[in-house]
Amino acid sequence: MKNKFMLNFFRSTYLSLFLFLALSTLVITKAQSNDKILFHDSHFHITNYIQEGIELEFYVDSIMGDKVGRSTVFGLPLQQQWSYRVTGEAAPTYYLDTDAPLYYYSFCDAWIAAQYLSLPKEKQERLDPMIIGFNVTDMYAADHIKRVLTTFPGVFTGIGEFSIHKEFVSAKISGDVASLTDPALDRIFDFCAETGLISIIHNDIDNPFPKPNKPNYVKGFQELIKRHPDAIIIWAHLGLGRIIKPIEDMGTLFEEMLADPAYNHLYFDLSWDETAKWLDYNDKSLENTARIIGKYPDRFLFGTDNVAPDKQEKQLYVYHLYDRLWKLVGEEVTYKVCIGNYEKLFNDARKKVRAWEKANVK
Ligand SMILES: [Zn+2]
Repeated sequence: MKNKFMLNFFRSTYLSLFLFLALSTLVITKAQSNDKILFHDSHFHITNYIQEGIELEFYVDSIMGDKVGRSTVFGLPLQQQWSYRVTGEAAPTYYLDTDAPLYYYSFCDAWIAAQYLSLPKEKQERLDPMIIGFNVTDMYAADHIKRVLTTFPGVFTGIGEFSIHKEFVSAKISGDVASLTDPALDRIFDFCAETGLISIIHNDIDNPFPKPNKPNYVKGFQELIKRHPDAIIIWAHLGLGRIIKPIEDMGTLFEEMLADPAYNHLYFDLSWDETAKWLDYNDKSLENTARIIGKYPDRFLFGTDNVAPDKQEKQLYVYHLYDRLWKLVGEEVTYKVCIGNYEKLFNDARKKVRAWEKANVK
């Protein structure tokens, strides 16, 4: 009797010990892998303005590596024309290199889809490709998005980054100038609401050399967003740019929008080293940014806005530009902005888009 009791006692002790060890290994492994991943990238371009870039597999293996968990991936919808009449043998690679125009280049979506489909499943899982090759002034833009989705089911999670007002770019695009009041945009967002496609929109708050505190492109943007409450929309770079600086009461503008339920479907993207430059312009701007993010931690996303980097350091560089901000907002908020919010939004979009494809693609 006593022996049997002792045997059972040892058995259950061994079992508990085994379970304890197994569980702690699991917890340690999870903690270690979480330690390594700094962020998910909500804003990443794999090709540049002349449609050159890096291969998707190289991006996953060498640039994301074990530091970036997941990432959006999109090209650039605009191709810089090399006009021999304008720059001769000097082939432009950036829109500021020449006066020749930019034009919409739709093939970028097919290029990304082909690359994505050639990847093994575990690498695909880490990526959220976005449709980008449409002309935002064309009523047929929504049809392009639908065509890409139905031609490559199982690939795309969203659309963008597409631009309405962007310093030095919008005026260079051949054809109509983009406008926030264009019904073509309404067709695009209606289709996003129908399918669950998440969207990233670039819209500067103003022109490069503005009149004080009367931003040209805020009111139209707000009305556009309010017209589409069922579309999940990310505002790239908070409407800032290389020389598009924050207006004086920018913090108040954001706080009003964040507090207003009419913008509950709008999220704010901190990507681009130029955005970091403005937010961490001085102690006051940084403290104000940290205070607002701390108050609405579910509404902000980190991204790099890098274009086809050849080294991982370039990817981590943008993250570290915000080190002072991460310290101010604390670990929990940093986790939301860098990882948690991405997972929530993009997992949800993926699920909805896959369901739409299942119902609509034969
Ligand atoms: Zn971008």
